[in-house]
Amino acid sequence: MKSGWVDSEAQAAIDRYARDGISRDLALRVYTTRLLGRDPKLVLHGGGNTSLKTTMPDLLGEEVAVLCVKGSGSDMAAIEPAGLPAVRLDRLRKLRARADLSDEDLLRIQRASLLEPTAPNPSVEILLHAFLPHKFIDHTHANAILSIVDQPDGEAICAGLYDGRVSLVPYVMPGFGLAKTAADIYEAKPEVEGLILNKHGIFTFGASARESYERMIALVALAEERLQKNRKAVFVTAQLPQAIASVDAVAPILRGACSRKDEKIEGAWRRMILEFRTSPAILNFVNGAELARYGQAGVVTPDHTIRTKNWPLVTIAPARDRMDDFKRAAQAAVTDFCERYQAYFARENARAGGIKRPLDPLPRVALVPGLGLFGLGRSKEDAKIAAELAQCAAEVITDAEAIGRFESISEAEMFDMEYWPLEQAKLGSAAQKPLAGEIAVITGGGGTIGRATAKAFAAAGAEVALLDCDERAAADAAKAIGAAALAVKCDVTDVACVRDAFARVVAAFGGVDIVVSNAGAAWQGRIGEVDEDVLRQSFELNFYGHQRVAQAAVKIMLAQGTGGCLLFNVSKQAVNPGPNFGPYGLPKAATLFLVRQYAVDYGADGIRANAVNADRIRSGLLTDAFIAERSKARGVSEKDYLSGNLLGREVTADDVAQAFLHQALELKTTGDVTTVDGGNIAAALR
Ligand SMILES: [Zn+2]
Repeated sequence: MKSGWVDSEAQAAIDRYARDGISRDLALRVYTTRLLGRDPKLVLHGGGNTSLKTTMPDLLGEEVAVLCVKGSGSDMAAIEPAGLPAVRLDRLRKLRARADLSDEDLLRIQRASLLEPTAPNPSVEILLHAFLPHKFIDHTHANAILSIVDQPDGEAICAGLYDGRVSLVPYVMPGFGLAKTAADIYEAKPEVEGLILNKHGIFTFGASARESYERMIALVALAEERLQKNRKAVFVTAQLPQAIASVDAVAPILRGACSRKDEKIEGAWRRMILEFRTSPAILNFVNGAELARYGQAGVVTPDHTIRTKNWPLVTIAPARDRMDDFKRAAQAAVTDFCERYQAYFARENARAGGIKRPLDPLPRVALVPGLGLFGLGRSKEDAKIAAELAQCAAEVITDAEAIGRFESISEAEMFDMEYWPLEQAKLGSAAQKPLAGEIAVITGGGGTIGRATAKAFAAAGAEVALLDCDERAAADAAKAIGAAALAVKCDVTDVACVRDAFARVVAAFGGVDIVVSNAGAAWQGRIGEVDEDVLRQSFELNFYGHQRVAQAAVKIMLAQGTGGCLLFNVSKQAVNPGPNFGPYGLPKAATLFLVRQYAVDYGADGIRANAVNADRIRSGLLTDAFIAERSKARGVSEKDYLSGNLLGREVTADDVAQAFLHQALELKTTGDVTTVDGGNIAAALR
């Protein structure tokens, strides 16, 4: 590990922030915080924090001494000065005289001492920064340090390695107690460059941003060198099946096993999104014969516990030709996992005085020998974080085992961290959206209706995949929705293309819960004269396209075993033929029947099938030029043409999207056709 400090970049940061009236010290604090944040071997997702002691004018313009400390849970790699809220330092320091301090009191004092009342909450490690005297302080959970301190004799290894350059702090849970202990230990030997916190991480400090940062790099580099010496070869590989199943075969089974029925709403499930990771290092870790020991020994640093739980789910290796065995074993492993978690909660909660409420008992990380690891979460973002931390843990544990034996904090210490309200607060209390944890696939996702539908489903909390034969249109639509939306090129007239597209969706999210089969195009021709090829082409897309998509989705839904929802864009042509529109209406009529057939054949599996009959929507089928031509031909304005229905209202793609969303949420409705056409009695179903 080498210093990333570059003089010209540091100066550029000073110059850039000076324009906003930010001091040189704070500009450099931001600069080195970002340097730490961008290295995943030092800092991962919200772990770690930095601070600066300086003076600043308060709201009344009076200069006061402050501690600028990173906001709780914020990302160091992209931090801005506002991400280091300023807190009155004298008030924080007075707290050291107290015998104890409740979380509630700390939070209230903290908020009341912020210079800017709307600033984010400071890091939970604020008091440790406040009680030490240094102008600049850096804290990370560096991988190399963890591999060394997560050992039965971690303190002895550090003492030998650092030769008086650091003081060692025994494990104490973060918060007031740790801050006091660390300050006492520092004061006994004030010439040290930093503190190493057993089973937790490292603090370095200095008079300048550069000194504090480069001490961090130097001390971590020493740990990295130590890990290269006298290594044992780890791990001895377990016996694995010859042919391992693919991710897209394993993920839906795992996802189904980790889903739970909603106890309050019949037909509803609490589902997880998956993030898959694999690499030679991950495979070496999950394939080890002793995985059950080192893989289940606890967290590598205490603040992982709220994201990963204290231990991962471990499954058997999935043999390609024995997936039924894998399914049974995965379900049994999840049941055991939940029972173990509940027993842990009961035991530790009794110790803690019975005041805690249990979190859900489901795993957040799954290790699959032969394949890799999965992070699980209620959103793609949460699943990614869990996977990233699990990957980091695998690296830390591998290095720890290579020089000794990995050891974590105790069960009681993990519980205190997992159920610490200040840690849980990092997860936020955002209200659960109705489709949170669900994965929706929208075909024709690059078109007007597909786009609007994907947007509506994403807004309702679903992870969305947009399939379209026009790759760029799908990518544009996905980009407009957000980082987690997936765009996949897919021609629904090609069965291999459909199969591959669904495999990609499953690899990206773990499964499929909702399909909006929307891709379509219009062919015209007088039915008595039309070329048979035209009819066949239309059937390929407007009937077989829907069938292929539904078939691919049902296969995944059955593997998950948690039901599902198939939605079809059928069009009013299915029930109300227009002149010369037979080539379009005929396959659409067959698709209407298809909806009912899926409702009949898969109702017992909890898979619902519904359709939307829309009419006269401004879209790729009904282009602006076509609207102009048709309205002119009828001698009416474009507006009157588009709102020529019983309600006299123009129907939009957003109206169709809301109808699909409504059908996705109606857990007791299947075989339904919802008409979205402003009212057309000739197209009414009955
Ligand atoms: Zn920490």
